[in-house]
Amino acid sequence: MILDAEKAWSAVLERDVERDGSFVYAVRSTKIYCRPSCPARRPLRENVSFFPAAQQAEAAGFRPCRRCHPGAEKERSLDAKLARARALLESELDRTLPLGELAARVGLSASHLQRAFKARYGLSPRAHAAALRLERFKRELPRARSVTEALYDAGYGSSRALYARAAESIGMTPSAYRRGGEGVALRYAIARCSLGKLLIAQSTRGVCAVLLGRTAAELEEELAREFPRADRVREPELDARARAALRAVEGSTSARRLALDLGGTEFQRRVWSELCRIPKGETRSYREVAEQLGSPTSARAVARACAQNRAAVVVPCHRVLRADGALSGYRWGASRKRRLLAREKRGSKA
Ligand SMILES: [Zn+2]
Repeated sequence: MILDAEKAWSAVLERDVERDGSFVYAVRSTKIYCRPSCPARRPLRENVSFFPAAQQAEAAGFRPCRRCHPGAEKERSLDAKLARARALLESELDRTLPLGELAARVGLSASHLQRAFKARYGLSPRAHAAALRLERFKRELPRARSVTEALYDAGYGSSRALYARAAESIGMTPSAYRRGGEGVALRYAIARCSLGKLLIAQSTRGVCAVLLGRTAAELEEELAREFPRADRVREPELDARARAALRAVEGSTSARRLALDLGGTEFQRRVWSELCRIPKGETRSYREVAEQLGSPTSARAVARACAQNRAAVVVPCHRVLRADGALSGYRWGASRKRRLLAREKRGSKA
């Protein structure tokens, strides 16, 4: 989460009780951190830094203030209220729940709910509901008799706005998505790499799959499962973009500049882009990734999003381990994960 330091500082100066739970401030000279509303004397601005939550302040070596007790029960109860707001949004997708009503039902003011919800989950309540609706729509589509029916089932009143958004977020029109990628042209090529065989598939927008396997047939089957109805055309050799992807898989260049077209849900894309920020040679736990996303309770959803990553190595889901350091699963096999991590560790030392 990005904290606006100037806004946070003015909330501290105002002892704004409504910002309690949305961040804490830490004082370098005393090594203590506080809620925005702490009654203590205000420190010098130059000694103050801000953290989205008590956990991060503690991780940075600050102790909780004894006057305002940041990080304890109050934050937990805010967590519970936010979780309840999220559950209400999920159970009432069929209508647009007004912010004021939602806030009243969980016992917060509308402005506090709006800010704290966004700080915790990265989206406003309204945007979160919209993302959920879109996901439900995508789930309903293959079963629905028509796109319009799926729209209604997903809680949309009118279809035009959704069409625009759905096309943008899933990289194809809803009708094409419904038909498993029908009408979408994918080019792919298969090459050898140090981890076995590798398939790189591209749409017109960018790399949409990087798969690892033992044989070409195995890889082509996996591609067909991912895009059952797409028009899949095998190229005899790698083009420039596919060669760049191969170099990234081999660890000789960064995947940062590679054009990707990964589709996915809003949440999956947030997880995948967070994975791309884990430096080579380092690992994170599912929980740490969830915390980075501002959603510490989503470790299992993060693990699922890692398992659904279709861009091996390019989106480095192999850099995520279980909290106890165990390797955990890997879509392309635990032994490949082990080899990748060992190679990256060596590389980062060199
Ligand atoms: Zn305090």
